[in-house]
Amino acid sequence: MGNEKEDKEMLLGVGYKKSKKRSCWVYFLGLLAFLSFIILCGLAGYHFGHEYFFHNQNSHKQYPIDNGGLTIDDMVFPDPEPEPGDYYVGMGRFDVTGPIAEVNMMGYAVPSQIAHGLHMRLHSRAFIFADLEKKNRAVFVSIDSGMGSQIIKLEVIKRLKAKYGDIYNEKNVVMSGTHSHSGPAGFFQFLLFEVTSLGFIKQSTDSFIDGVVKSIEMAHDNMQKANLVITSGDVDDANINRSPSAYTHNPEEERAKYQHNTEHEMTLLKIESPSGAEIGLVTWFPVHGTCMNNTNELISSDNKGRASTLYETSMIKEGKADFVAAFAQANLGDVSPNTAGPKCIDTGKPCDYEQSTCNFPPRVKYCIAFGPGKNGDMFQSTDIIGTRQFDAAKRILSEPGSERIQGPVSFAHQYVDMTKEEVTLSDGTKATTCKPGMGYSFAAGTTDGPGAMNFKQSMTHGTPLWTLATKLIGKIVCKTEPPQSYFDCHKPKPVLLPTGYMDIPYAWHPSVVDVQLLRVGQLVIAAVPGEFTTMAGRRLKDAVKAKAIEQGMPSDTRIVIAGLSNVYTHYIATLEEFGAQRYEGASTIFGPHSHAAYVHRFSNLVGNLVNGTTADPGPSPQNIMAKQIELLPKPRPDRLPAGKKYGDLIIDAEESYKTGSNVMVKFYGSNPRHNMKLGKTYLEVQRLDSTAGKWETSFTDGDWETKFRWERLSNTNVSREELTVIDGIFNLIAAITGYHINLNRMEALMNNGEFSESDLEPNDNTLRGFEAARSHLIKKLVTKGILSPAENKLKAGYPDTDESHVTIEWDVPSNQQEGTYRILYLGDHLAESGNITSFQGMTSEFQVRK
Ligand code: ZN
Repeated sequence: MGNEKEDKEMLLGVGYKKSKKRSCWVYFLGLLAFLSFIILCGLAGYHFGHEYFFHNQNSHKQYPIDNGGLTIDDMVFPDPEPEPGDYYVGMGRFDVTGPIAEVNMMGYAVPSQIAHGLHMRLHSRAFIFADLEKKNRAVFVSIDSGMGSQIIKLEVIKRLKAKYGDIYNEKNVVMSGTHSHSGPAGFFQFLLFEVTSLGFIKQSTDSFIDGVVKSIEMAHDNMQKANLVITSGDVDDANINRSPSAYTHNPEEERAKYQHNTEHEMTLLKIESPSGAEIGLVTWFPVHGTCMNNTNELISSDNKGRASTLYETSMIKEGKADFVAAFAQANLGDVSPNTAGPKCIDTGKPCDYEQSTCNFPPRVKYCIAFGPGKNGDMFQSTDIIGTRQFDAAKRILSEPGSERIQGPVSFAHQYVDMTKEEVTLSDGTKATTCKPGMGYSFAAGTTDGPGAMNFKQSMTHGTPLWTLATKLIGKIVCKTEPPQSYFDCHKPKPVLLPTGYMDIPYAWHPSVVDVQLLRVGQLVIAAVPGEFTTMAGRRLKDAVKAKAIEQGMPSDTRIVIAGLSNVYTHYIATLEEFGAQRYEGASTIFGPHSHAAYVHRFSNLVGNLVNGTTADPGPSPQNIMAKQIELLPKPRPDRLPAGKKYGDLIIDAEESYKTGSNVMVKFYGSNPRHNMKLGKTYLEVQRLDSTAGKWETSFTDGDWETKFRWERLSNTNVSREELTVIDGIFNLIAAITGYHINLNRMEALMNNGEFSESDLEPNDNTLRGFEAARSHLIKKLVTKGILSPAENKLKAGYPDTDESHVTIEWDVPSNQQEGTYRILYLGDHLAESGNITSFQGMTSEFQVRK
């Protein structure tokens, strides 16, 4: 790597982009450096940002040395220096984008939603808050990932401990996902999260770990004295409740306390230099990262990433290249950005209110909610919902009502085995949480991305066919068959997937989760390991706040929920919402009392937070990285037609374009998975600085205005095949067990009375042990045609080598500077020999005119 300045510049996507205003030798250096994957940009604008960022921490008061014989009382001191600052704060941002092709996207659980390029890069944004002695530190990291992941946190902490000792650990670092549904999948250690990604994906996981660690290292190196200001205000028209029927199950008097069935309030934490300049921002506001829908094939940070980059870009214009603005996630469980609401896309009629179905027979497939974009345009919807959060942040910060944060920095953390938590119900009786399980309505999906088959939302009873299928799964993918008491524990949720028992070849779901609080003065961040619904979050905040005040915190204490933190456990609905069994209730995996157990645990932890005592650490989660199965084929060697070179043009630019129009060019390309390019770019839009005679970079691949698409010439039908999450689960079971479950055959036999539950029991009393019983059953089911030996279809996904094309689009902004432009494509190709070689494609020069 280059020197520290160069590294820092490379880290910041925006810093990279800033180079466009600078002289052209940067570009040439950049090209040179590209060969060794270093981007050199030591330029004027950067120095400004750099000094701004680092030098305030050394603002010691200076007294004149030569006093001309005056006594100290006679001396005229210069104007007082700014106040010293209440805290030390460090901030860092780094790219975590990962693979942008061939991988499944995390969120919708649609096997066919495979990435084919890049719209917006994903980032990790880290904030370290410390007291003036730097004794106590609290670290909040907001990541443009689908969600927090246990393996990412365990590995990040391992790396931080190796470098910094115990300064940063599992107790004081919170890692919260923004829930973009358009990032790469495969970064988990539990199998259910990896069903549609064909298991673990090392490239995704490594990119997240590397990028998060780098963002925290940057924050560590950047620590400076700062003041903190907190405020809040409403963001209107940026979210709706996607399960309003479940919300109404909450008590009427409780609902009457709130104006809306989603939270409209955004909480903002502004970081100021001691002289009062705004240098960083964290906001919390609940809304799903589902503006980009399940047909999207370009990696995107969705509305949260859009809001962050809008804010950071606005600060670059003020000379603050290092500004970090996180738009973090909150209690978003039932909160959709698709503000136009759901409708039946085939008939235009409203969907069934409780089941989110259309037509007869009722199916969820056509009930889809749309955002505010024109004609449902998802790019425009992302822009609008992102801009609404950005505008609201600017507006709220300009309004009166903000408070300076004062008081200690502290943290409290506990690992909890959520499968056996005891809670006391309002009538005094005891109840427990359950081993994880997914309800039927999980498979129905949501109106942001519906499921398929005949699953509906609000299913509180199983069907005969699926009851048998669940039982079959319990026998071939579980070492211990789930007992009836387990199914009873989840009632009224009918369990479709008994994930708490599914442990072949390793755990399908977590059992140990992080319960964690961070405190900075009167702000408390409650890091929750999943998606709390609106009301679940409100209740948790109320309970934590009451406890905090009881423990001596000030009455203006503010609690924010940091959603999807540390480890993913799907949803946490209230007990009443659980009863409704919409998607969120069906995905509340530890059963009806999950929420009460969390309220209890978080409330207990407040005492530790306030008194600075260490909580019982609880059972440590296992790191099962070594067991991961990775079925996604490695990227194959690339191929070209005879006489062509990588980067040769297929479609060149036209001679000129008007501002506001679209430039589309196409190249012979290569698989972008050969180089993750973290902190770098696959493309550049360059403008000729005619005075200096040099090219400047105007846009890179992370910019909103550009799109990078990659397509393999043959076999594209594989990625567009219509598969459901259930197909994905059956395919994964086939890959694991070697047998495919033939649901149709089972149904036919069942309807003829030739197959029933008793056929799943061994009819040979001499069988001893799990393996013997399992292979006996498999043999029997193969004979009946219910199971069939499966070749591993998952590995046969891609051909050995193939020709691929890259399309680059640039939406020329209407205020774009006129001039001469060109577009570069920066790729890497893999030869049969295994060598990876960088190459560059370039369009002809073209004009941009008003
Ligand atoms: Zn979600």
